[in-house]
Amino acid sequence: MQKLYLFILIFLVGCSGSSEESIKMGFKDTEILEIKRFTEESKAKNVILVIGDGTGINQITLSRMAIGGKDYRLAIDQMPIFGMSLTHSFNDIYTDSAAAATAWSAGQKTKNRYLSIDSEKNKLESIPEKFFKKGYLTGIVATSSITHATPAAFYAHIDSRYKEKEIANQLLLSKINIALGGGAKFFDLKNAAQTHVIIDQKELLEFDFKEDKKILGLFDEDGIIRSVDKPSQKDMTNFALKQLSMNESCNGFFLMSEASQIDWAAHDNDAKSMITEFKDFDNTIRELINFVTKDMNTLLLITADHETGGLQIMNEKDNNIIIQWGTGRHTGIPVGVYAYGPGAHLFSGLMDNTDIHNKILDAVDYANLENSECRAYQ
Ligand SMILES: [Zn+2]
Repeated sequence: MQKLYLFILIFLVGCSGSSEESIKMGFKDTEILEIKRFTEESKAKNVILVIGDGTGINQITLSRMAIGGKDYRLAIDQMPIFGMSLTHSFNDIYTDSAAAATAWSAGQKTKNRYLSIDSEKNKLESIPEKFFKKGYLTGIVATSSITHATPAAFYAHIDSRYKEKEIANQLLLSKINIALGGGAKFFDLKNAAQTHVIIDQKELLEFDFKEDKKILGLFDEDGIIRSVDKPSQKDMTNFALKQLSMNESCNGFFLMSEASQIDWAAHDNDAKSMITEFKDFDNTIRELINFVTKDMNTLLLITADHETGGLQIMNEKDNNIIIQWGTGRHTGIPVGVYAYGPGAHLFSGLMDNTDIHNKILDAVDYANLENSECRAYQ
């Protein structure tokens, strides 16, 4: 009997201590960004939606402290409007990226794994499809495969996020003008070259743009493995933003950019990799805040599909942050919504993830936009 108690005790100590980790506290001065004021009457012309996959409030808190310390302010911390989003899907209290991205893209709850179809498999109109009718350009960026669940909900309509070859075909047939990410192995590149200009990493930095074709950049076989030879989220987002915003003949643009791999590191309970991914996400946000401040016509939104890992921030010990992970899976914890630009005030307070779709449409006064056609990058 005593042996059994001893075994249970060792087991419990082992369990409670196994996921505790210590992360060095950062020390850095905040780079204060210029933030402009917008009246509640001002309407957005363009919309940029930035997603931190798996990025809950605690992932942001840990990254803030690890990058610059307790009183440091990230770029995301300087977004002037803050709200909170519930994340449950149609069929569970936790969501996967497919159902969450469908909520933003199509404004309805659906089952986990479904992409821009409802729970009964009816096709839902996605936000890029809605914007296309109004003469907008649309772009998507992800550090995962571009056929992964979050980006896919913005162009595909399918009952499983795992049918990535079919999702790749749907991307080629979609109205998305610029798509940048990983996932080359899912594409028939010969077929893709008929409708798209396929760019490599070098061209991402120096590409001389022709507007007669859609643009596809596939920078890895699957998710983009982080290295100096591969583009970051910031590189891809800057390129897409430059191309989408310089076109004067279209009515505006919609850009979705995802930091896909914050989630992957959190699934692995790997805080150091998570912070590396977060740095790219926050650097991307810094550039986008500066764009909004200069442009004055663009609404910038940042949110997460769900929290991943049940990350807990425990205490401080010898200039280290002691953390503990609760799970290797997604949790049902609400996530933050951050907004800046015309229409940002709509995003304060508590909302459902489906509300984000409707609020984006309100911010651009979608109901009163005229139908029109934009011929660039077709
Ligand atoms: Zn995940």
